[in-house]
Amino acid sequence: MQPSSMAQSSPPPLVLCIAIPSPLRRVFDYLPAKETTNPQTLMPGMRLSLSFGGQKNIVGILISLENRLSKHKLKPIHAILDDQLPTLTPEILALCQWCSRYYHYPLGEVCHLALPTLLRKPSLPPTKEKPLKWQLTPQGERANQEDFSRAKKQLAAWETFKAQGTLSPELIKPLNISRATINALIDKKILQKVASEEPTPHIKLANNKEPGALTLNSEQEQALNTIQMNTFNCYLLDGVTGSGKTEVYLQAIQKVIDKGLQALVLVPEIGLTPQTVSRFQQRFSVPVATLHSGMSDRQRLFTWQDAKAGRTSIIIGTRSSVFTPFPNLGLIIVDEEHDLSYKQQDGVRYSARDTAIVRAQQQNIPIILGSATPALETLHNAISGRFIHLHLTERATTSKLPEIHCIPSADDSLSPQIINAVRQTLAKQQQALVFINRRGFAPTLLCQDCHWISECPHCDSRMTLHKLSPTRHILHCHHCDAKHTAPLKCPKCHGNRLQALGQGTQRSEEELRKLFPETPILRIDRDSMSRKGELAKALETINSQQPCILVGTQMLAKGHHFANVSLAVILGIDSGFFSSDFRGSERMGQLLTQVAGRAGREKHQGKVLLQTEFADHPLLQQLINHGYSALSQQLLSERRLCDTPPYSYIAFIRCHAYQANIAIQFLQQTRQHCEHIIASTPTLQYLGPLASTIEKRNNRYYYYLQVKAQQRSDLHYVLATLCPILEKQRTPKGLHWLIDVDPQET
Ligand code: ADP
Ligand code: ZN
Ligand code: ZN
Repeated sequence: MQPSSMAQSSPPPLVLCIAIPSPLRRVFDYLPAKETTNPQTLMPGMRLSLSFGGQKNIVGILISLENRLSKHKLKPIHAILDDQLPTLTPEILALCQWCSRYYHYPLGEVCHLALPTLLRKPSLPPTKEKPLKWQLTPQGERANQEDFSRAKKQLAAWETFKAQGTLSPELIKPLNISRATINALIDKKILQKVASEEPTPHIKLANNKEPGALTLNSEQEQALNTIQMNTFNCYLLDGVTGSGKTEVYLQAIQKVIDKGLQALVLVPEIGLTPQTVSRFQQRFSVPVATLHSGMSDRQRLFTWQDAKAGRTSIIIGTRSSVFTPFPNLGLIIVDEEHDLSYKQQDGVRYSARDTAIVRAQQQNIPIILGSATPALETLHNAISGRFIHLHLTERATTSKLPEIHCIPSADDSLSPQIINAVRQTLAKQQQALVFINRRGFAPTLLCQDCHWISECPHCDSRMTLHKLSPTRHILHCHHCDAKHTAPLKCPKCHGNRLQALGQGTQRSEEELRKLFPETPILRIDRDSMSRKGELAKALETINSQQPCILVGTQMLAKGHHFANVSLAVILGIDSGFFSSDFRGSERMGQLLTQVAGRAGREKHQGKVLLQTEFADHPLLQQLINHGYSALSQQLLSERRLCDTPPYSYIAFIRCHAYQANIAIQFLQQTRQHCEHIIASTPTLQYLGPLASTIEKRNNRYYYYLQVKAQQRSDLHYVLATLCPILEKQRTPKGLHWLIDVDPQET
């Protein structure tokens, strides 16, 4: 045998390069299934079933087809799961490939992230039950009366169908046609079932239309007119709280809808309220759907399918909706673009905002990032001209932005100034909002005799006191979720002088209930809102405009429009002044501005009380006297001096292990690998290993190594070279590592 002549006579075999969810950053080669007669039916983006490693039947995504010989003996795939068209459209596949390259994460894992959960398994996905109807078959159309000579009921039914066309089960009853008759006609091939194409139940076609578009003020109009609809540009809509950014989004979307295109609106994790959705649904006569983590896998799949088929024109969704396929996407909006929830904190550490920008660029469509408190990275891009900066400097309504007044800290109770302000607000038939960055009753339980404190045995943090009922109190760790009954006596000295230290939302709620027994008090945090529909109910009370007090965490701060809130009280933010994270001040400025921005959004002038020990802090003074935009300018110049992002680019190699020294050793070695790839220079620096802000979490030790570069390309070169080294290396048992590009938290 002469192998060379063999190779010449028969063309090299077709090899399928497939992305498979696995920790390895590569694609895998397979052969087509034996029964695939026509490889022409194979297209990149298709779902395939195959065995991989020990797994017998998993889903891979076809990336490319190549005619070549392979050194290894290749296995055939089991089957092609897609019929005709690939599940991952070319646009989404291109986005996944970018994500995989940029975040240094296996393509197979990214592709799975882009798929609805139910499509990540090879089993047949459920199909939406289409409303059932019947109509005559072609044979039925041609039939005549004689065909039913001995069946009067069938004759009557046939005549009805001939006159009416299609009939649904609800209609046949009043027409006196029984199911038995229908079945008999189906057996005779006179009738057939058809699925009717009706909109899915979760898509509402608006019929009760809102008065419609508002007349834009000149700033809004200028912003809208600047947005070019037919080409890629990234716009920063930098508008103070209540300046009418949403109205600009709505009118921009209208332009897109008028052209028959679709729009994607990304919102923060908990910013997706029924109010936001109904504002959109009422404005547009096209189908609007939502995508978020509160939906079942089936609902998400159907919404995804509707978007892909173009049956839905507008999707409002959280982070992972950035991967939703659309046949004709015309615009992307990222509301509250500074929000941390856009950055995924496990698995693929992608930023949905940045991914959305890349998607808009790849598809050559406009993208609008909106915020009253833009991230410094975004501002820097706007200032340097990479983004187009649109400004809304005033509130759209008559009221002015509220002023922030500092008041001294009180012990663990609300200060008299706060109580008075709340009382005055209620007397004016208005609503008050109390913001505390901590859920539960108190962040710490302390023994006044021996100074024992309620530390979590598994984490570097304190356990929060929660009151489940008047008699049942527990200590709960918010980091590892450990819970146990709160002690009545000190576990150390057995004394009974235990003190709840500090303010939590529950404590303020309890205090306010005693002070204002007649007033509805709504607590809005993760504990009180865990039940479905609870937030909607609370928002309903708020929107009824009756005097009430809202007590809550971050959940209250995000983008809501509460028309009758005129007082905002901010408690317990002082720890933010001492954050070890270089983004600490930025986050604090954003939070304060956002909470303050809930007050006085319509007719009433708003007022903000900030309880703090650090009223003289220069950054706080800057924010109070000159606003977020001045603060952000100052923070940017500090970042420039310190050479931190956005003036440099960083990535973390993170790892965690059951012992601190194992994690540290691993990162020390990793640092050596890095230094071999590119040695430390002024333009590329390594820092660490460093402990994460919470070093120990759930008995694991979290560390990271920072790579900082002047050029993104250097950063990516180091990471891309490092990953295969780390993949090949045998890691100590129980150690996990990952790459975090553009990390948002230490
Ligand atoms: P933002 O999203 O910037 O925080 P919103 O879009 O929620 O602000 O608008 C705040 C309020 O101003 C809403 O009640 C909205 O209806 C109103 N509004 C927005 N634009 C206009 C306008 N052009 N004329 C009158 N009212 C407006
Ligand atoms: Zn004690
Ligand atoms: Zn814990």
